[in-house]
Amino acid sequence: MKTLIANGTVVNADASQLADVLIDGETIAALGTGLGRVAGEVDRTIDATGRYVIPGGIDVHTHMELPFGGTFAKDTFETGTRAAAFGGTTTIIDFAVQSRGRSLREGLDAWHAKAEGNCAIDYGFHMIMSDVNDASLDEMDGLVGEGVTDFKLFTAYPGVFYSDDGAIFRALQRSATNGGTILIHAENGIAIDVVAAQAVAKGDTDPYYHGVVRYPIFEGEATNRVIRLAEAAGAPVYFVHMSARDAVETLQAARDRGVPAFGETCPQYLFLSLEDLGNGFEGAKFVCSPPLRPADHQEDLWRALVRDDIQLVSTDHCPFDFHDQKQLGQGDFRKIPNGLPGVEDRVDLLHDGGVVQGRISKERWVEICSAAPARMFGLAGRKGVVAVGADADLVVYDPAKVHTISASTHHMDVDYSCYEGRQVTGASELVLSRGKVIVEGGRYVGAKGDGRFLKRAVARDHLV
Ligand SMILES: [Zn+2]
Repeated sequence: MKTLIANGTVVNADASQLADVLIDGETIAALGTGLGRVAGEVDRTIDATGRYVIPGGIDVHTHMELPFGGTFAKDTFETGTRAAAFGGTTTIIDFAVQSRGRSLREGLDAWHAKAEGNCAIDYGFHMIMSDVNDASLDEMDGLVGEGVTDFKLFTAYPGVFYSDDGAIFRALQRSATNGGTILIHAENGIAIDVVAAQAVAKGDTDPYYHGVVRYPIFEGEATNRVIRLAEAAGAPVYFVHMSARDAVETLQAARDRGVPAFGETCPQYLFLSLEDLGNGFEGAKFVCSPPLRPADHQEDLWRALVRDDIQLVSTDHCPFDFHDQKQLGQGDFRKIPNGLPGVEDRVDLLHDGGVVQGRISKERWVEICSAAPARMFGLAGRKGVVAVGADADLVVYDPAKVHTISASTHHMDVDYSCYEGRQVTGASELVLSRGKVIVEGGRYVGAKGDGRFLKRAVARDHLV
C-alpha cells in the first residue's frame, strides 16, 4: 500500500518545508517536492494543500483503566487510544502499576493484558514502583531490556504509592547502572496530609481546598530534594506534571549548573487555575494532583517551555465521571478520585494557546508534542519526526479550523470536559498510524488492535 500526501507544509521540530510525503507500507519512503511525478503508481493521494503534515502526537503520561481510590479511570485502552487518535496523538506511554507486596512483573503483565489487542495506536509502558526492595530493584534491569525503560516513584500519596528518600535513592542508584530513567511525582505528601487533615477538621471540605492544602512550596521542596538525591546517585531524573513556579525555579537552577534533570507539564497547568476548583462541588471536575495553581503560575510554565527548562507537555489523562465517580468525594475533598480527561485535547490546546497566541513557533509545538517525547523516551528515529524510514504516524493538521471543545462532541469516555465551551483554532483532519488512515472526516476508520506495544530503547544518550 502506497500513499502520497501531497502539497502540505511538513513541520518538524527543526524546520518546516513545503513537501510531499510518500508512504510505503508502514513507513515513510520519501520526502520532497514533485513526488507525484516520480513515485510511480500510488494507491491513494491525499491533498494537504494549506495544511500542516506533522508527526503524530506522543503523550508520555496516560492512565487508562487506572485503579484509584476504590474506582477505575473511565477510559479503557480501547476508548482512550481512540480518543487520542481523534486529537492527533498516535502514541501513548501509559503507566503499569506494581502493587505493594507484588512484583513488577505481575503489574506489567496485568497492563499488557489490558492493552493488548485493544489499542487504536501504538503504546508503551512506564512502570510505577510502589515497593522498592532487593527483588524489585533486580527486576528493573530485566524490564529495561524488555523496553520498559522508566520507573515512576512518588513523594506523594503516603500509604499508597509513596516512597521514602531511601527507596528513591536506591532506585536512582540502580538507574545509574542499568540505563533506566527515574520519573518522579514530586509533592511532599507527608506534609500535605497534615494540612489536609487540619482543613477538614475546620470544615473546609469542598474541592477548592484540595487545591489550597497542596502548597506550591511542597512541590518545590520535593523537587529540590529529589534533584539533590539524583545528583548524589549520579543519575538523570525526570519530573512528571510540573505545576508550580516553586518547582520550575528549582529545576531551572539545577539545569543551569549542568544537572541532567528534566520535566514535563500538562495542559491543565497552562490553561486552568485554582479558580476552577471553586464553585462548590463542581470543582471536583478539576481535582488532580498536583492541583491547579493560582493563575500567575501559568506564565512561568510557558516561559520554561520556551527556554527548554521544561522539555515537553503530556496530559496525565486519568478521567473519572463527574456524576458518579467524582461524587465519592462529597463532604471530603480527600476522597475525590484524582485525575482529569485530556488525551484528546492536548495537541489542539497547545496549537491554540502556544502557536496561535504567539508564545511558541509551530516547530516548537511539534517539539513539545512529539519530537522531544520520542527522543527522551527511547523512540528516536521511529516516532516524532517526518523523515525517511520513520513510522508513518502522521497528522494532516488544519491550522485555521476553529472548533469548540465539549463533552457532547469529544470521544473520551467521560461525562464532562475541563474545557467545555472553549474555542480553539487548529484541528486534526486526517490521522495515520503506521501508514494506515485511522481518523478521517471526523470518523474513526481504524480497528481495535491496530496499535502495537513499543519496546523502547534506553534513552540515556538522548536525554543528556
Ligand atoms: Zn499521572
